[in-house]
Amino acid sequence: MGVSHSENTPYRGRFAPSPTGPLHFGSLITAVASYCEAKSRYGKWFVRIEDTDIPRIYPGSETHILQCLDAFEFEIDGQIFFQKDRLHIYNDVLHKLQQKNYIYACQCTRKMLGSNAIYQGTCKTLDLALENQAIRVKVNDQPIEFIDALQGNQTANLAHELGDFVLKRRDGIINYQLAVVVDDYLQDITHVVRGADLLDNTARQIWLGQLLGYPPLKYMHLPLAMNDQGQKLSKQNMAQALDPSNASQLLQQALIALKQPFVELDRPTIMLQQAISQWQKDLIPKQNTLPDIYL
Ligand code: GLU
Repeated sequence: MGVSHSENTPYRGRFAPSPTGPLHFGSLITAVASYCEAKSRYGKWFVRIEDTDIPRIYPGSETHILQCLDAFEFEIDGQIFFQKDRLHIYNDVLHKLQQKNYIYACQCTRKMLGSNAIYQGTCKTLDLALENQAIRVKVNDQPIEFIDALQGNQTANLAHELGDFVLKRRDGIINYQLAVVVDDYLQDITHVVRGADLLDNTARQIWLGQLLGYPPLKYMHLPLAMNDQGQKLSKQNMAQALDPSNASQLLQQALIALKQPFVELDRPTIMLQQAISQWQKDLIPKQNTLPDIYL
């Protein structure tokens, strides 16, 4: 299904933070790696704010993200997308999926689902109206395989590991899986570079892309920065917010974390130019966590 991006297709990468907390050092690693990978391949780099999950938006974090992008002097191609302004687009795509009979409404409550990690398809044959219900997409019992540029060969069977999964919640919130697939397609993204915590989401996104006839993407999942408790740096465990006034030092540290050749302190734009010119993807540790400790 779908047309494949040929080898000659220009590289189009992106950075897609969710404003569920301020950016931290782990987010900077993702931004820097996706940027240098795109620019070292003469590609474009887009930014998308993934803010469909309104209840999880952390006040002020969107402003902090934009301030950081400015302070680090990334050259952003095109307009920044905000997903909350694009809900009608995702709803139109749901409509298309409905016409092909790929989705169905699910009235199961959290309590009914219990601790079952795999959805059993309880509502699949009930033919419920889609309004005010969760919407699930049907999966099939086939392996989904892809090669990750850092993490190697990957395979997943959605029917065995997950079952039909949610694209829209009962409260109307569009799920990340749907929004990310639709926007990667509409922004003509060719390469996804992001944290290894999202590696196991990829099969879902490939599946959705196939159902929609979108061209396949290439993936690279970066090792995660960890704290001294052995947890990945995240908003949930209070990773320190990036200080935009310290952009050059932070940039230097991010490049060190990615095991790139040394870059002298300078204005971020100069440092980024140097980082791009000496960028070597193959130096990034091929594992899912970084060996050093960060705060
Ligand atoms: N919005 C996601 C996050 O902040 C990243 C999504 C992606 O890169 O696909 O974790």
